[in-house]
Amino acid sequence: MTTSCPECAADVSFADRPQLSEVVECGDCHSELEVMTLDPLNLVLAPQVEEDWGE
Ligand SMILES: [Zn+2]
Repeated sequence: MTTSCPECAADVSFADRPQLSEVVECGDCHSELEVMTLDPLNLVLAPQVEEDWGE
């Protein structure tokens, strides 16, 4: 199963059946991509996780 990266338009392929909200990494631009819809398969850039929780 293959779709295209929303960031760089490279093909992103899934070895297994993709799951909703699954996060995959684009092999080309290394963006984190989240599965938004399954039919058709559509990816969006995953939100950046802020790591500075400390306060
Ligand atoms: Zn990409």
